[in-house]
Amino acid sequence: MQLFIVTGANKGIGNQVLKDVALLTKEPTKILLTARDTARGETAVKNMMEEIKDKLPENVTIEFHQLDIQSKPSVDSFVAYLDKTYGKQCIDLLVNNAGYAVFGRPDPDGAIATTTINTNYFGTVYLTEALLEYMKPRSRIVFVSSGVAKYLNAAYEIQPAYFVKKYTSTEQMDKYLTDYIAAAQRGEIENGAPSPSYCVSKAALTTYVWLLSQRFKSDPRKILFLSCCPGWTKTDSAGDDAPLTLPEGAKTPVYLSTHSYDELYVNNGRYFHLCAMED
Ligand code: NDP
Repeated sequence: MQLFIVTGANKGIGNQVLKDVALLTKEPTKILLTARDTARGETAVKNMMEEIKDKLPENVTIEFHQLDIQSKPSVDSFVAYLDKTYGKQCIDLLVNNAGYAVFGRPDPDGAIATTTINTNYFGTVYLTEALLEYMKPRSRIVFVSSGVAKYLNAAYEIQPAYFVKKYTSTEQMDKYLTDYIAAAQRGEIENGAPSPSYCVSKAALTTYVWLLSQRFKSDPRKILFLSCCPGWTKTDSAGDDAPLTLPEGAKTPVYLSTHSYDELYVNNGRYFHLCAMED
């Protein structure tokens, strides 16, 4: 049996990715729809089953499990559940989709910077590190990152290319981000660009994926690590002005989740964007 996990899957892009992947799956598979809020997660499973039950292959099941990526106890309890239920090396696909974004407010302020970076970067990294020993041979982890960092001024030093070049270890990057949060909390970061803490968090995430692929280069399981931007997609976080529909926004992460492993493996650690950057 295959085991798939999608984080932040109660709504938005994560929910659409889970649905598309479920319908494309041909092997017996259990898919864990995870969400930080139990009521929202259980409702999402119920709604999805109502919507797709007639099309869902018989041997594919969707179950809810609580998972708040910003809460270490929640992540630890999720990992303990996997360990007890499935044992090590049980996961075929992990989609790290859960993310936090605040637009249209002054940013960074201390609170926004803290939640944004702790969720999108430190939370995703903590979960990923905890799950690495649970990944099967030839499994994959798809990270829903973002290309927005490229719109920022070079002075912020947060473009993905800059991160990849400058940070050669996650320790260095963690320090940069911890210092960034502390500076934002002291009100010392200039507020001259849209949502810089979001961009910092996602540039760092994209870099983390590259560093992870390098760290695991000689791991015999040959795990696939891929990051992507869905494009600007209509969701609660991104708003109604976004040009892409949910199925369009899900296209890149679904491709990375389902396309031939061997064809993707040559690009292990890379960042993908299948929609035009204007989207
Ligand atoms: P939504 O706001 O629709 O969905 C975000 C999801 O993440 C929700 O399920 C939310 O849960 C969940 N989430 C937030 N914090 C946590 C947490 N601590 N633990 C677990 N789940 C959490 O936004 P999108 O669908 O747009 O975002 C999905 C991903 O796509 C994000 O990583 C985002 O940064 C990325 N992205 C989106 C773009 C867009 O244009 N939409 C563009 C580029 C990247 P809850 O419902 O409980 O809040």
